[in-house]
Amino acid sequence: MGRAFVYVILGGGVAAGYAALEFVRRSGDSRDKLCIISDEQVAPYERPALSKGFLLPQGAPRLPEFHTCVGANDELLTKEWYSEHGIVLVLGTRVISADVRRKTLLTSSGETISYKTLIVATGARALKLEEFGASSSDVRNVCYLRNLGDADKLVDVMGSCPCGKAVVVGGGYIGMECAAALVTNKINVTMVFPGKHCMNRIFTPKIAEFYESYYTSKGVIFVKEASVTSMEISAGKVTAVMLGDCTRLPADMVVVGVGARANTGLFEGQLIMEKGGINVNGQMQASDASVYAVGDVAAFPVKLFGGNVRRLEHVDCARRTARHAVAAILDATGSVGDIDYLPFFYSRLFSLSWQFYGDNAGEAVHFGDLAPGDGAAPKFGAYWVREGRIVGAFLEGGSRQENESIAATVRHGAAVPDVPELGRRGLAFATQATGNTKLAAGDKPTCAWHATVVVAAAVSIAVFACWFGWMASYVLKRDL
Ligand SMILES: Cc1cc2nc3c(=O)[nH]c(=O)nc-3n(C[C@H](O)[C@H](O)[C@H](O)COP(=O)(O)OP(=O)(O)OC[C@H]3O[C@@H](n4cnc5c(N)ncnc54)[C@H](O)[C@@H]3O)c2cc1C
Repeated sequence: MGRAFVYVILGGGVAAGYAALEFVRRSGDSRDKLCIISDEQVAPYERPALSKGFLLPQGAPRLPEFHTCVGANDELLTKEWYSEHGIVLVLGTRVISADVRRKTLLTSSGETISYKTLIVATGARALKLEEFGASSSDVRNVCYLRNLGDADKLVDVMGSCPCGKAVVVGGGYIGMECAAALVTNKINVTMVFPGKHCMNRIFTPKIAEFYESYYTSKGVIFVKEASVTSMEISAGKVTAVMLGDCTRLPADMVVVGVGARANTGLFEGQLIMEKGGINVNGQMQASDASVYAVGDVAAFPVKLFGGNVRRLEHVDCARRTARHAVAAILDATGSVGDIDYLPFFYSRLFSLSWQFYGDNAGEAVHFGDLAPGDGAAPKFGAYWVREGRIVGAFLEGGSRQENESIAATVRHGAAVPDVPELGRRGLAFATQATGNTKLAAGDKPTCAWHATVVVAAAVSIAVFACWFGWMASYVLKRDL
């Protein structure tokens, strides 16, 4: 049994949705040429919603409201959209092996699907506690968060322990966003992580201090420089978490956010790997010319970092690399150049909202008021300066224009003749330095077609935006 397609997208997450839309826009007719294979049961959706609006105690959105590509203020691609455009969605089906030389994929249902061009969009998987040597994490009230099934379970488990105690393991963005959601659901939270402070891959100690104080004011307890060694289990449920120093934390539920690993397994030994992902060039093309990789699984050269290869687990990166790959694949004239990506990441925590651009390398220069809340909405940030130029910027509480300014400052590598003066001028440095400077086209939503988005989609986006706050970051991003 088998089918053949010109293009196959392996994986049905964020990148797959944006790639599909790009195919339709660029090629017009994708009828029966394009197939998406996903082990999820639903059409591609905006994964970041799972740790934000989806977990709200009231008015939480449910599919189909957050299918791609509403996160970029674009069309809502429901299952029907794919069939209307002749795109074959093979859902609930896992690809169990890939043969790059023969250009075939074998699915869990025993079907062989062949392709001329393959886009690998398999994303990443959440790391399990077992991988760190802590046993018994696979029990009823231990939650991970990577897909819709995980999010449904988390909602159920939260519902089963009102006013109970949750231990959140991990101080990255999943841990931080889940902790905020748990508090909002009136659950008492203790966060445990091995680092000296939260979000240690992006935050400076000073920035982290602000968020930790804010969380503490919401009742969250931090246990830092600690790791989970085991769990007490009773009747299939965790009742307590044990730490390395023998501390026992009673728990009605546990949420684990200890990182992710790219899903490269199908291609190990067949494609060149780098930085834990599939190595691709600036066209997102892998070491075999018929294979492209996008999103979390792709390691690609970032021009802004001198061509340094990076693998970025950020939604904006998934969207842009997906679009770029499709543009390159369908490029008949050879006019599509190498991707020129400005790394961008954001998060929303309670009523806080931050954005980060570029690289957090070099000297960090803070600005604004980092003293936690006197009721006023906080606004502060940091620049990262290397060799006299800004290479990264972070801003909490920025307006659309302010975020646009810090993005442009990073994009253009603004020169910093006087570092202390940069700290004194703070945000004004970005807003003045970039006054008339435009962001590169690649940093904006690529498309004139935003103007032609159908009214129905616009209405659904507006309703969606009202329902939950996570859209705000996207709206900001869209206008950059
Ligand atoms: C809960 C959560 C919140 C997030 N919040 C933010 C945020 O606030 N800001 C931000 O910038 N980023 C955020 N991210 C990261 C962002 O969602 C990812 O970077 C993005 O989803 C990557 O897109 P992708 O298409 O590469 O992978 P994914 O969206 O993970 O999609 C991969 C798809 O491939 C499927 N798949 C994998 N292997 C197989 C196989 N063998 N056969 C069939 N199907 C397979 C998976 O089931 C999945 O459908 C968040 C991620 C999560 C999990």
